[in-house]
Amino acid sequence: MSQLPMTEPFLFRSSRGQAPPCTFSEALLQGLAPDGGLYVPTRWPRLGPAAFTSSAPLADVATTLLTPFLAQDRLSGELPAIAGEALDFPAPLVALDGEARLAVLELFHGPTAAFKDFGARFLAACFARLRPGDGRTVTILVATSGDTGGAVAAAFHGRPGVEVAVLFPRGLVSPTQERQLTCWDGNVRSLAVRGTFDDCQRLVKAAFLDAELCARRRLSSANSINLGRLLPQSSYYAAASLEVWRHYGEPASFIIPSGNLGNALACLWARRLGLPIGEVLLAHNANRTVPEFLAGGEWRPRPSVATLASATDVGDPSNMERLRALYPQLEELRAALSACSVSDEEIRDRIRAGYREYGQIWCPHTATAAEAWERLSPARRRERRWVLVSTAHPAKFREIVEPLIGREVPMPPTLARLFARPLQCVEIDATLAALRAVLLGEE
Ligand SMILES: *Cc1c(COP(=O)(O)O)cnc(C)c1O
Repeated sequence: MSQLPMTEPFLFRSSRGQAPPCTFSEALLQGLAPDGGLYVPTRWPRLGPAAFTSSAPLADVATTLLTPFLAQDRLSGELPAIAGEALDFPAPLVALDGEARLAVLELFHGPTAAFKDFGARFLAACFARLRPGDGRTVTILVATSGDTGGAVAAAFHGRPGVEVAVLFPRGLVSPTQERQLTCWDGNVRSLAVRGTFDDCQRLVKAAFLDAELCARRRLSSANSINLGRLLPQSSYYAAASLEVWRHYGEPASFIIPSGNLGNALACLWARRLGLPIGEVLLAHNANRTVPEFLAGGEWRPRPSVATLASATDVGDPSNMERLRALYPQLEELRAALSACSVSDEEIRDRIRAGYREYGQIWCPHTATAAEAWERLSPARRRERRWVLVSTAHPAKFREIVEPLIGREVPMPPTLARLFARPLQCVEIDATLAALRAVLLGEE
């Protein structure tokens, strides 16, 4: 007699609908779906507040939240270990007023002091358990203009069987960012490309299409569209909204500094699962593609413009496809979230005001969220419990922040440890031949 499995495998589908559905690990290993789409869940398990244990640590919240999504997956038995290893730093909710009508969710206590540590570390912990049996080394390529490269490098540094190459545009990242990208050794190499961020992305894409390179190296990517980075990010929205719910019996509304929309999607997914989340407001910098779309209904992607909140300089957000998959009708989308655009001048003013009024030191991205809150009507502020999502520690942007507040930004111990490491990097031309020579060890 054959036995039916206890549960069906949970499947993810491509946002373009032309690729076979697959499980979590398969989606994670593929990154992009074969039809060029992004993986999204095929259904939404119900996970209301009652599904979670009261005041559990973040790793336990993540395990509860992700368990249904890993049903019958290769990694399902290891989920508690993966979550425990990857999400081993806090994401505190800090109230800014006596009644906690306004709070900050600090996502910058990981090894590289930005929220990308959550997704990158989760992905690395999964990769470590999915290594192919043939003993070949996997080479992970990342193009970065900011926080992604550092978070991925830190998450994979020292892991056996994996090599990482981080490509960044030489001279076009801030001195502080450059230090985080070049402080690695061993299995992580930093490549300063003589070109722009777009050149770096083009080189990574070209490497994946290079038959000889792919025959000699097993290439993979850890880029932000990977499901293995996005889905675990829903955990901190779950944990924060549950904390507000248990204290006040009200949902939490989040204001999220947004670029590629990964962090925003993680919040919208958490709300769809049944977590007590109210409004979701996206704070963009001068890259206005999303706010204009919501206002006018026309999707007009464009090249990005450089702003002080550089990690959100995105003119063609890749996760828009996931957002459309979640809310196919424009009217639904407009009802589900709102978006605004903040100028560099307003970012500067908000950093000054945050220090003056709350004694808070905000990175430029967090300041866009604070500005978005400031613009809400007094009635709307009172109706909700608002949470500003703080995506990076201000010390990562001290060149911008220190002159505005007139003092030094204290360095968190995590960053101080990184900054104490010796710097090394290889400079290459923006050509596939140059990248290939480095990856094949022929430079
Ligand atoms: C990447 C990043 C963002 C934008 O997140 P998305 O998921 O791309 O919208 C915001 N702030 C900081 C500090 C970042 O590094």
